[in-house]
Amino acid sequence: MSWTKAISWWLGLPPVDDALLLLDGISRTFRLGEVEVPALRRADLSVDREEYLSIVGPSGSGKSTLLNVLGLLDRPSSGSYYFEGANVSELSESERTRLRANRIGFVFQSFHLLAHRSVLENVMLAMLYNDVSKGDRIRRAKWALERVGLAHLVGFKPTTLSGGERQRVAIARAIASRPAMLLCDEPTGNLDSVTSAAILELFEGLRSEGLTLIVVTHDDRVSSRADRIVHMSDGVVYAAAPT
Ligand code: ADP
Ligand code: MG
Repeated sequence: MSWTKAISWWLGLPPVDDALLLLDGISRTFRLGEVEVPALRRADLSVDREEYLSIVGPSGSGKSTLLNVLGLLDRPSSGSYYFEGANVSELSESERTRLRANRIGFVFQSFHLLAHRSVLENVMLAMLYNDVSKGDRIRRAKWALERVGLAHLVGFKPTTLSGGERQRVAIARAIASRPAMLLCDEPTGNLDSVTSAAILELFEGLRSEGLTLIVVTHDDRVSSRADRIVHMSDGVVYAAAPT
């Protein structure tokens, strides 16, 4: 028990818990025919609400696998994952889908936008699993596009936009349902340095509005702006760079 928890217990107050999520001994092994690939090995990680965490490590070290577990896209082979106090390993697939849709946003290196849908439709489509009316989906999508500075592009197709604009659309899509955390996998990997800097500023603004940010990156300019950096090597999460 931490001191804050002990004191609140002693005073008879509700438990104080700053942690948004906790991974306890998470392993994920992929099976390729006869071969087992251990992508995560007993990973432990705690992330506070409104923290900006960066994850760095060489290619193949398990960063994307970790993000997929955190984002409830994948189930670990063993270990426990607590998100907002709930043991998510015990949830059904539909409960996990609902939690993911409402509480978690994703941003990828290659944007993952639908080329033949408008910017507004791209953002709205992300809310298909949220229990909200079409009118609300439109309102939320417009709010999100305004928040990322793209209100003037709602009717455009992604193919007519620059890389930086596309990533802003992807960020709008990720924040439209007002999630608790944003999981970003190399979000500036396809952007030039000026555009990357603008995206980083956007992230910092969102964080100051209460969003938790977890960003996988190779880019020192991205990781240097985080509150904390964890390092991955061969599926293990380290608090400091392995020597
Ligand atoms: P990173 O994102 O750090 O480059 P990944 O998490 O993508 O690393 O991969 C970690 C390891 O797990 C690699 O050895 C990779 O080949 C393996 N791996 C990842 N996803 C799969 C999968 N779906 N099937 C089999 N092996 C996988
Ligand atoms: Mg990866």
